[in-house]
Amino acid sequence: MKALTLSADRMLALVEHPKPEPRAADDVIIRVTQSGICGTDRSVLVGKFPAETGVVMGHEAVGVVDAVGTGVTRFAVGDRVIVNPTLYCGNCPACLKGHWNFCGRKAGTEVGLDYDGSFAEFIRLPELFCHAIPDGMSFDRAVVVEPLACALNNIEAGRLTAGETVVVVGGGPMGVVTAMAAQLYGARVLLVEPDPVRRELGRQVFEAPEFGDRVTLHTPDDPLLTENGDLVVDSVGNLLEQSIGYAALRGRVVVMGFNSNATATVRPLTLLQRGLQIIGAGDYNSMIFPKAVELARRLPLERVVTHRFDLADHEEAFKALAAVPGAEYAALKVVLVPPRSGADV
Ligand SMILES: [Zn+2]
Ligand SMILES: [Zn+2]
Repeated sequence: MKALTLSADRMLALVEHPKPEPRAADDVIIRVTQSGICGTDRSVLVGKFPAETGVVMGHEAVGVVDAVGTGVTRFAVGDRVIVNPTLYCGNCPACLKGHWNFCGRKAGTEVGLDYDGSFAEFIRLPELFCHAIPDGMSFDRAVVVEPLACALNNIEAGRLTAGETVVVVGGGPMGVVTAMAAQLYGARVLLVEPDPVRRELGRQVFEAPEFGDRVTLHTPDDPLLTENGDLVVDSVGNLLEQSIGYAALRGRVVVMGFNSNATATVRPLTLLQRGLQIIGAGDYNSMIFPKAVELARRLPLERVVTHRFDLADHEEAFKALAAVPGAEYAALKVVLVPPRSGADV
C-alpha cells in the first residue's frame, strides 16, 4: 500500500509500505478514507515534537473496516469507523486508576509517532480503539471528531460552565473546534487570531446559523479580551503569558498545544493576587471519545475542513499549513485522501 513515512531528516516520503493484516485476535484493519493533518504532525516536521524515523504518520482518521481478527465482535467488514488514536495498556498504575491518558506504557503505541498511523491506505488498530460512525454522519464530519475529543478534554479540564466567557487563543483548526465545543456548553466565546487570513476563515465557520452570535473573532490586542476570560484556552501551546493577561479574576488558563520547545515566564504574585489557576490536561482520556462522537451530531464540524489533498500531494498539503519555509497560512483543517479511498469519501 501507499503510505507517508517520516524520514531521518524529518521529511515525509510517499513510499510503498506493507499492508497491515490482523495479528492479534482483536485487531481491526481499516481502509482509511480520510486523515486530517494535526498541529502535532506539523510540529514533528518542523522539529518541535519527537517521532520515530520510518513511522507512518497521521492519527486523525476515518475509514471502512477491511478485515478483522478472529476475536473481533463489535465490527464487521464494511462498517464505517473513527480511529481513537490514544492507545493505553489498561494494566499499569496510571491505567488502573482510570488515568488512561497517562498510561506508563505509551512507548510503541503512539499512533503516527511511534506506531504506524493513518497517512496510508490502511491502518491496524485494536477493536477497543475503533468507534462506529453514527448513521447519517458524513466522513467529512467524522474526521473532525478526534480533534473534538481533544477540545472537550481541555474545556472539561478547565471546568467550563454555562454562561461563562471563554477566550480561545489561536484561530487554527484546534482553536476553532474548541470554540465550537465551548459554545455548545453554553459559553460566550472570544476567539483570538492575529493572522487576518485565518481570522477570516474562522469568521466564515461561525457564520453558520446554529452558532448565533456566540462566537466572535478578535485580534490579540482587542481591549475586550483583557482580564475577561473565566476560562482561557491556549490552543497554540506557547502563548501562556498572553493567555494569563486575558484571564478574569479567579480565571482558569488551560495550556493545550503540544510544543516541546516552548517556555514561559510567570509571575507567581499575579497568580496569587488574581486567584488564577493554570491547568494542563494532557492528552484526552479515551472515556471522552464516545461523548465526542455524540456531540458531533450537533456540531457542523465539517466547516473547519478547508482543504483536501491526495496523499501523493502531501507537500502541497503541508504548504497550506505553513509547515514549509516561506509558506503562508491559507487553511484551517487539511485532510489527506489515500488513493483507494474510492467513492465513499
Ligand atoms: Zn491530533
Ligand atoms: Zn497503561
